[in-house]
Amino acid sequence: MFEEFVEKYKLPSYRLNQINKHFYQEPHTSFEEFESLPFPIREKLNSEFSYISIKAKDVIKGKNVTKALFLKKGSKVPFETVLIKNSDKRNTLCVSSMIGCPLGCRFCATGRMGFVDYLTDREIIDQVLFFQRQLQKNNQNIDNVVFMGMGEPLLNLENVVKAYEVMTSPEKIGLGKRKITISTVGIIDQIEKLKNSTFKGKLAISLHASNQNLRELLIPIAKTNRLSMLMQTLDLYTKKNNKRISYEYILLEKINDDKFHALELAKLLEGRLAHVNLIAYNQVAGFNYKTPSKNRIIFFQQILQKHNISTTIRASLGRDLLGACGQLATKLKRR
Ligand code: SF4
Repeated sequence: MFEEFVEKYKLPSYRLNQINKHFYQEPHTSFEEFESLPFPIREKLNSEFSYISIKAKDVIKGKNVTKALFLKKGSKVPFETVLIKNSDKRNTLCVSSMIGCPLGCRFCATGRMGFVDYLTDREIIDQVLFFQRQLQKNNQNIDNVVFMGMGEPLLNLENVVKAYEVMTSPEKIGLGKRKITISTVGIIDQIEKLKNSTFKGKLAISLHASNQNLRELLIPIAKTNRLSMLMQTLDLYTKKNNKRISYEYILLEKINDDKFHALELAKLLEGRLAHVNLIAYNQVAGFNYKTPSKNRIIFFQQILQKHNISTTIRASLGRDLLGACGQLATKLKRR
């Protein structure tokens, strides 16, 4: 972002390093605080850039979760970012790539909002910087970033990949490449593009069903992005990157949590470099889906493990903040 600025004013290259360090790596709140820079440069920065491109409308703190509602300039519909403190004390940030989402997955509150707008690379990065600066004040950092907030990141691929580049650049935010995860419902042609992009982070597929019929009932776009084709595309992706793919599977009582679903899922992933994250559905008013019992979830996991499928049951940390990504903003919008 500051490369053109340094070029425009013919500043020596070390100035770019100073600006990047202050902006991306230190917990300042304005350009005026960039003490290693002469005052005129600080003033110019101030007149040419906004320090943060998004406005925090609300920040809600739960036990291990902090949720921020942001507004994009000129928009009245909030989008959200969620910071999760994992049990091992690592900080995972769940960022949004859109306001709302056009894909309308049946169990998803964000999908019910419909599509409002794309977020730019700067608006994605500023979600990270907002939380990073807060954490740095307590000598902490963001450890992982997951694109699991509002929106389908692969439908905003250019901005998502640009944001990834800033997040992983050692001169900028400096996160490790494998610390960033893109989660997608599986848009085949966009996975092809991702494969050929600079993205070297992790890929997570929101699978949620073990067969084509069930998948297209839950995820409308699966009708045109068929499971068999998706798996073939993912095989090529794994071949190129040689990295394990995560499969997210939200367990919905009596919809996708039967023994035969577990067996079908095990068969689907057999021989593939895969890890399954089982997530208990978080019940929300207005949706008819129910959370399966703990025993049922454990039973499902045991079947997968018996078939040598690496599986984790993911804790649903957001419950005390009205649930998973997307749910709070929807509630606010409906009022
Ligand atoms: S699950 Fe993801 S892709 Fe589907 S509607 Fe929700 S945000 Fe969009």
